[in-house]
Amino acid sequence: MKVAVVGAGVVGMTVAWHLRRAGVDVVVLEASGRVGGVVKTLQHEGALVEQGPQSLRSAGSATAELVSALGLIAQVAGPSRAARRRYLLMGGRLRPVPSGPGDLLRPSAFRARDLVRAALEPLIPASEAQAGQSGLGAAPESVAEFVARRLGPGAAYPMIDAFVAGIYAGDAHRMEAEAAFPGMVAAEREHGSVVIGMMRTPRSPRPDWLPRTTFTFERGVQTLTRALHESLGGVVRLNAEVTGIERLDGGLRVVGPFGMARADQVILAVPSWVAARIHPVWAPSLATIGAAPVAAVHLAWPRGEGPSQQGFGFLIPSRERFDALGAIWVSSTFPHLAPGWDLIRVLVGGARAPDLPRLSDRALRSHALRVVRQVQGPTPDPSWVQVARHLPGIPQYGLGHSRIMRQLDRAATDIHLLGWGYRGIGLSQGLDAARALAAKISAP
Ligand SMILES: Cc1cc2nc3c(=O)[nH]c(=O)nc-3n(C[C@H](O)[C@H](O)[C@H](O)COP(=O)(O)OP(=O)(O)OC[C@H]3O[C@@H](n4cnc5c(N)ncnc54)[C@H](O)[C@@H]3O)c2cc1C
Repeated sequence: MKVAVVGAGVVGMTVAWHLRRAGVDVVVLEASGRVGGVVKTLQHEGALVEQGPQSLRSAGSATAELVSALGLIAQVAGPSRAARRRYLLMGGRLRPVPSGPGDLLRPSAFRARDLVRAALEPLIPASEAQAGQSGLGAAPESVAEFVARRLGPGAAYPMIDAFVAGIYAGDAHRMEAEAAFPGMVAAEREHGSVVIGMMRTPRSPRPDWLPRTTFTFERGVQTLTRALHESLGGVVRLNAEVTGIERLDGGLRVVGPFGMARADQVILAVPSWVAARIHPVWAPSLATIGAAPVAAVHLAWPRGEGPSQQGFGFLIPSRERFDALGAIWVSSTFPHLAPGWDLIRVLVGGARAPDLPRLSDRALRSHALRVVRQVQGPTPDPSWVQVARHLPGIPQYGLGHSRIMRQLDRAATDIHLLGWGYRGIGLSQGLDAARALAAKISAP
């Protein structure tokens, strides 16, 4: 059997890597002149500046398996202890995000009655709409509706609203709960309660060498895509843009200006708007998947001269009416990435302000600096600034996304969709999905 993978992002290369391990003949066709897609670590003034993902979640056994098999264990770098502290901007001030039940007893930004309502979640009956979430016909529920129903609108809402902005650059009212947070929805469906379900869900075993929550590598996230590329060798063809798929004598032919490649199965590990062009039959369904433009604006000061960083960073709920999604205190979280620098990464744009990422670098610098000054107080001008734009941007799983993905799954016999555009926005989810698809395709 021959498999053609379209797109050499981290997920496309990972599915190819698993397929090759299973003895399948595979080719990866990449439109650009480099592998990695969104994953890109830039060296700038002695710092490693992540243009895309900053770190990987340790969750999901596929991540640990891949890192280990690629020989990267010695290069894994966990976050600092300080990074356990995360903040929310509430009423214009940074407030610690509760990280456990004990924290709920400390003074916080949340009103006592809202915390009590959230604590009563296990007693709230499961919604009958859950039948709809399982595909039986009820209207899909947004993240905002789901959270307000389960945990109350008071304490949980600003937190989930800010998380949706931080993870998806999205709008909690427009993102589908089942697609964006499948674990929470499954917990209600299976256990009648998000809190009880989460407590009862067994964690996948984590090897000793893997940090508890998140990690990167000594030389940044691109270490992973570089290692995948080296391992795949000549299987990856660069500058090979795929423009279409044709059926031919019971098989498939992937075509583009590079020529063509025959295959029995094709994996489209590309964004939804590209997949729609390559396989127009699915275009109407794929058109429902949106994108939120974002810019990651990195501001750097000589170490000790920037604003104070004692934690992971902060997220900004939409009701704060700030034109930023939040910021990561990179040199506090992963000090090894920016030796000698205080480095902050401000995320700008998203569904809240989709035009901002298109501003000039100069305008984005002023904008990000204004945000840092408003939140953290007087701050000198940075020594350097580095801007990474993502356009069209981060995929948005809107209302109805899960139903559409189920339909496309049923239609996918020899053409498959894979990657962050479809199911799971994060790297670890993409690596899990890649391993699962490779196992399905290579099963005898
Ligand atoms: C700012 C930002 C921060 C993020 N932070 C995190 C984080 O901290 N942790 C985390 O887990 N995730 C994070 N993510 C998400 C993470 O980056 C993605 O899950 C992951 O990179 C998606 O990889 P992919 O292979 O699915 O897609 P992509 O990286 O988009 O790869 C698709 C590939 O397809 C190629 N391609 C496109 N068109 C064609 C064509 N016609 N023919 C052939 N090839 C084509 C592209 O060039 C690209 O190489 C972040 C994303 C962004 C934008």
